[in-house]
Amino acid sequence: MKRIYAFGGGTAEGSATMKNLLGGKGANLAEMSSLGLPVPPGFTITTECCVEYLQAETMPAGLMDEIEAAVSGTEKDMGKLFGDADNPLLLSVRSGARVSMPGMMDTVLNLGLNDTTVQGLAKGGDERFAWDSYRRFVTMYADVVLGLSRHAFEKLAEDLKAEKGYTVDTDMTADDWKLVVGQMKALAADELGHAWPDDPMEQLAGAVEAVFRSWNTPRAVFYRNSNGFAHDWGTAVNVQAMVFGNAGDDCATGVAFTRDPSNGAAIFYGEYLINAQGEDVVAGIRTPQPLNRLNEATEDQVTLEEAMPVAYAELVEIHNKLEQHYKDMQDLEFTIENDRLFILQTRTGKRTGAAAVRIAVDMVSEGLIDEAEAIKRIDEGHLTQLLHPRVDDTAPKTVIASGLAASPGAAVGKVVFTADEAVAMVEAGETVVLVREETSPEDIHGMDVAAGILTQRGGATSHAAVVARGMGRCCVAGCADIVVHGNQNFVAKGEVTVNKGDVITLNGTTGEVMLGAMPLVDSSLADSGLDHILQWADELARMKVRANADTPKDAKIAREFGATGIGLCRTEHMFFEGDRITAVREMILADDSEAQERALEKLYPMQRGDFVGIFTAMEGLPVTVRLLDPPLHEFLPHEDADMAVVAEAMGVPKEKIAERCEALKEFNPMMGHRGCRLGITHPALYAMQVRAILDAALDVKEAGHDARPEIMIPLVGHKRELEVLRALTMKTAEEVFERRGDRIDFLCGTMIELPRAALTADRIAEYADFFSYGTNDLTQTTFGYSRDDARFLKDYVDQEILPVDPFVQIDADGVGVLVRTGTQLGRKTKPNLKVGICGEHGGNPASIEFVHGVGLDYVSCSPFRVPVARLAAGQAAVK
Ligand code: PEP
Ligand code: MG
Repeated sequence: MKRIYAFGGGTAEGSATMKNLLGGKGANLAEMSSLGLPVPPGFTITTECCVEYLQAETMPAGLMDEIEAAVSGTEKDMGKLFGDADNPLLLSVRSGARVSMPGMMDTVLNLGLNDTTVQGLAKGGDERFAWDSYRRFVTMYADVVLGLSRHAFEKLAEDLKAEKGYTVDTDMTADDWKLVVGQMKALAADELGHAWPDDPMEQLAGAVEAVFRSWNTPRAVFYRNSNGFAHDWGTAVNVQAMVFGNAGDDCATGVAFTRDPSNGAAIFYGEYLINAQGEDVVAGIRTPQPLNRLNEATEDQVTLEEAMPVAYAELVEIHNKLEQHYKDMQDLEFTIENDRLFILQTRTGKRTGAAAVRIAVDMVSEGLIDEAEAIKRIDEGHLTQLLHPRVDDTAPKTVIASGLAASPGAAVGKVVFTADEAVAMVEAGETVVLVREETSPEDIHGMDVAAGILTQRGGATSHAAVVARGMGRCCVAGCADIVVHGNQNFVAKGEVTVNKGDVITLNGTTGEVMLGAMPLVDSSLADSGLDHILQWADELARMKVRANADTPKDAKIAREFGATGIGLCRTEHMFFEGDRITAVREMILADDSEAQERALEKLYPMQRGDFVGIFTAMEGLPVTVRLLDPPLHEFLPHEDADMAVVAEAMGVPKEKIAERCEALKEFNPMMGHRGCRLGITHPALYAMQVRAILDAALDVKEAGHDARPEIMIPLVGHKRELEVLRALTMKTAEEVFERRGDRIDFLCGTMIELPRAALTADRIAEYADFFSYGTNDLTQTTFGYSRDDARFLKDYVDQEILPVDPFVQIDADGVGVLVRTGTQLGRKTKPNLKVGICGEHGGNPASIEFVHGVGLDYVSCSPFRVPVARLAAGQAAVK
């Protein structure tokens, strides 16, 4: 088994396709070397080797010999020697899983330094830099490899700084660092009970092992759990020649994106620091400078383009090469050592929803990618971000501070200062804004629940900014206007004190921090480019997307979001409005058909009016109206006062009403007298609804519009139910048509919500013009889990009994088989049977992909999910 793959310096043993074996970073390094980019040479130890280590809990036999051989290759490429007193090669050792897990695992830099090699490094002319590198190495190695507290090591440096009256690290001289390094190594030896590892190869072995181990640190495990990544992948280890961005003023280090990751603009975007290491940029300890003036830059800032024009020009050339090659926005890390440019890393850049859409649309018009690829690049999270609310800036506001607009959107919440507090407050039902000096991977669980994140320090590529963007969470970072005081409060501009629990508003699009709760408004999709993406998705999709809407208002929203019809209009929702409920109660409680007729006659004009509104809003598009479905107890009066109102309306004593209510009680209403069972026992009710629907459709037709009603019968389990109710529907329709002297085309179909319906769908199809899967009930009845009470499902998911909540994402192995079977059986009877889905799963991308595979004709979901569903339907078709 080949465990090591070399890269750089003209060798490229791996390639971009080998992510699983070499990790994302290793595969990229191999690919970049083969593109001829200036990558510092080194080698990748495979993920398989990591798994081997984790299983055996010891370094695989022979691995160190292979590593030694690989190191000598790197020595040749760099013209330096590992452990040499004269011209020492130093190495970085980094993790790199098959997917990016930013900041989750360990890294060691400057490996190979000891009291001898540090002299060689100093020969370059900068003794201070050499000893500074040495102390950085000792601090990191002690922390990451030896498991000693970083804090105690950093304190030694802080103490000396204080003693000498220095304010910043750069005040420290070579001798100062020499002293600190000696103290650090002594401290380590003390704690370890043995000498500090000075032998470079021993250091390397320790670091490789530490990176292997870091795959299983709690924060890495948490990250994989929350992102759904497997625990048995392991990480690769990248060992690479160090190049120095902090070896003098002709050195720099930076992070660049080939396009602006916050809005997608096609500008070369990023930031850099002169005379610094990469960690300085990411940690946000010094404020980085912009790459060029297309980035937001102030007068006093010096761009890389101005400071190092040659290296900048080379970087621009590489940027073009990378986009042409990868055909996607890249995020690259670079270092300039004595004016020589090295590319340390490139990967697909994380981006906001707005940027994802704009980049995809722009790349199509630039001819880099096609429409199918463009829609694959957008995910549900991107859309959710685009559909996010924003701050209503017409309202008066008290801006107390402003920082970097790191991740767009808006958040209103109570201020908390720790991740744990954020979680506790959210669990108590509060909405919070997490305020930190800066964030680290330890804060992820808090960032995950917070509505927004505010940090005092850090740039556009700081941890807070990158993670918040990935989560689609609003974030203002690097807000130098505030000073955070521990866990108590923060002070803005030295004036306003904001305490824990006070409410603030963040505007992640402008970087403003405001006191109090600002009103939020829905985001505008205009000019976002999303309409292009969704239009391409529609063109590529095989399935149509309809909406579940019960009112003309929702129908309008659905139509604006691009719904091509209504897949489910739940008529019962109309029954709760205004004083209608009294008429509904009269109808249910009536004990003779005359009283019932009277109640129905009250309801009829109201329903007819509702349908006119919906058909008009959906003019030219199909509207599936479901006849009454829910358990009747939902409509029964429970309070004395309500019973009195019904009693009066019906002209009967209140006691009689109470008695009827008692008699109608069911032990298990969800499985009781509901759905088409109501139509069987109360045919006059369904007949009234059919009349209202068709009269309304004819009214709309008379007004010169195009109504396309589809009548849907719920909860059918036996074909006879549908046979009888279809006959009732047709007979009623004929009566309406005769009375009106006009006709209208309509369909009569059924919902498939019970396992028996799916299993006998060939017979049910004889009486149905269409099927619509009610997967809420179908999930309930297949699993036998009450849809209203399944609180245990969280435990089921936590304990991995179920991979996901089956009411959210369709259970492909069980419920999905019924959907497939029912569809096949139905189409055996009627080959062109139209089949859709209108349960909540109709708006869930994974479920949409599943039903695409089954061959459904449409999905139907809530109006706000329509864009997500359109995208998912398109993606399912091109996958
Ligand atoms: C369903 O059961 O999936 C459905 C759409 O109907 P309801 O949620 O109204 O029961
Ligand atoms: Mg249902």
